[in-house]
Parts: sequence; C-alpha cells; structure tokens
Amino acid sequence: MAELKTVGVIGAGQMGNGIAHVAALAGYDVIMTDISDDALAKGVTTIEGNMHRQVLRHMITDEAMKTGLKRIRTSSSIKALEETDLVIEAATEKREIKEQIFRSICEIVPAHTYLATNTSSISVTRLASVTDRPDKFIGMHFMNPVPLMKLMEVIRGLATSQDTYETAITFAERLDKTTTNAEDYPAFIVNRILVPMINEAVYTLYEGVGTVESIDTAMRLGANHPMGPLTLADFIGLDTCLSIMQVLHDGLADTKYRPCPLLVKYVEAGWVGKKVGKGFYDYSGEFPVPTR
Ligand code: NAD
Repeated sequence: MAELKTVGVIGAGQMGNGIAHVAALAGYDVIMTDISDDALAKGVTTIEGNMHRQVLRHMITDEAMKTGLKRIRTSSSIKALEETDLVIEAATEKREIKEQIFRSICEIVPAHTYLATNTSSISVTRLASVTDRPDKFIGMHFMNPVPLMKLMEVIRGLATSQDTYETAITFAERLDKTTTNAEDYPAFIVNRILVPMINEAVYTLYEGVGTVESIDTAMRLGANHPMGPLTLADFIGLDTCLSIMQVLHDGLADTKYRPCPLLVKYVEAGWVGKKVGKGFYDYSGEFPVPTR
C-alpha cells in the first residue's frame, strides 16, 4: 500500500471544499481544481471561514488552521493534478460530466495514482470503466458538511482491488472518519434511504398535505430529525436530490422512485437550495422564509 502525500480534489463546491479542508488538516498537500474560477474563490473563502469557526470552537488550534490553509493550492486546470497520489472527484452529479473528468484525468496523473469519486448515487463500476485503472478506483462518499459529519461510505466497484480498498480505509482513518461499506447499487445506503424520504416530503408539499413549515416542523418534532426534510433538501442541493432520484428510478426501474414534479420544477427554476440562496426557503434575509 503506497503512502499518500498529495491529494487532488476536483470540484470546489460544497463537497469539494469540505474534502480539501479535512485532507489539509490531516496533513495532506491538497490541490483543488474547478472549471469555475468563481467556485474556486468561493471554495477557499468557505474553507477559511469554516476553519476559523473551528478555531473559535476550540476544535483546532490557530496554528493548525494556518498550516492547513497553506497546504491548499487551487487551479482551474486539471493539469495541476499531475503529481497527485489520490484524486477525489466531487464535481456536479451528472454521469457525463464525471466520465469526461475521469477520461481526462487518466491522461494527466501517473500510473500509481488512485482515483475516487464522491458521487452520491452513480455506479462506481461504471465510472471506473472509463478509466485506465478500474482496480485503483473507489467510491468515497463523504457527507455534508464534510468537516462535521463523521461518516464516509466506501463503495467498491467490481474491479476495485484490496489494496485500493485498504488505502481508502487508511485515508478515512487519518481524516478521523468512520467508514461503512456499501455495495455498488444505485445511491448506496445513505441516499437510497434518505433521498426517497426527501422526495416524499416534496410530494407531501405538492399534494397540499402540508406547508413547507408544517412538513419540516412535523419531522423535526415528530420524528426527532435534527432538521426538516425540505431544509435538508435545500442543504444538499435540489439538483443533487433530483439526480439521485433519477439514478434510483432508472437503475431500479421501480415507480416508487419517480421524482416529484415539484422537485423538477424547482430545479428548472434554478432554485436549487442554499448554495444559490433559494430553494424551498429564501435565504436572502436574516431568517429563511418558505418560498411556498
Ligand atoms: P456543488 O454544485 O456545490 O459543486 C459542484 C462543483 O463542480 C461546482 O463548483 C462546479 O463548478 C464543479 N464542476 C462542474 N463540472 C466540472 C468539471 N468538469 N471539472 C471540474 N469541476 C467541475 O455540488 P456538491 O454538493 O459539492 O456535490 C458534488 C458531488 O458530491 C456530487 O457528485 C454530489 O452528488 C456529491 N455529494 C453531495 C452531497 C451534498 O449533500 N451536497 C453529499 C455527498 C456527496
């Protein structure tokens, strides 16, 4: 098992910047890339803000924050990843985008480099098949927000080697994450259970059974969930939720996974949740205000 020193992260969005954050604090050199310069700048600002908050809460020292931040480099070109030992892809949840990224990355990184995807739902085996190293390919499914959530779901593709699996487990341990193994079936464990529940909450809204607020309050106080399902959907990103439902619907061919038309409409409107300031709630004021 090779020792990892430099970790590449593709995508500087909610998940990518979280992965870069925890990898840098764990002592890895990190190179974070994105096609959007804006996303890179926003990603770095988010990491700085989140690390600063961790210092204020005495979770890390000021020294650890400064050293961690120095370990993160950014680039809008994936060529910057040419000297990495592990590349974790955390780009938009679209199979075509991810396949294109992995095809390009294979032409850049050395033969020893492990490849991982943070996909929420897409087949790891399928993504691995477009690469020149399906044995060195694995699913590392981090949870949002990465610095706070303990779990990393580990998904082996059909060809993933034992060495790659053990490398992923060692990496997760160094990040202080707990791992669970999931088989490579649509949406794995967490999202197979969680996202249909969110989709059902959207149906509950669509059919007028409850308002945004009553649905969230019901599940917070009635089921003891730390946040309501529509707040959680905004937090995950409605585009990501919709993609996961589509993968479940296509992959398992069961109508119980059909995406709610209202979820589709929100995504069509670009109201994809907290990351754009509007989803089932509007986040532009001091407090979130329901949009329906
Ligand atoms: P996001 O929209 O916040 O970020 C995605 C980023 O990918 C954007 O900055 C975008 O510019 C970038 N991107 C798009 N195409 C690219 C390309 N070709 N090369 C480089 N960068 C590119 O999305 P997110 O919430 O961070 O989700 C990213 C991945 O993580 C998805 O696969 C998602 O399913 C998965 N995931 C999300 C969550 C969640 O709660 N949001 C949890 C676990 C896993």
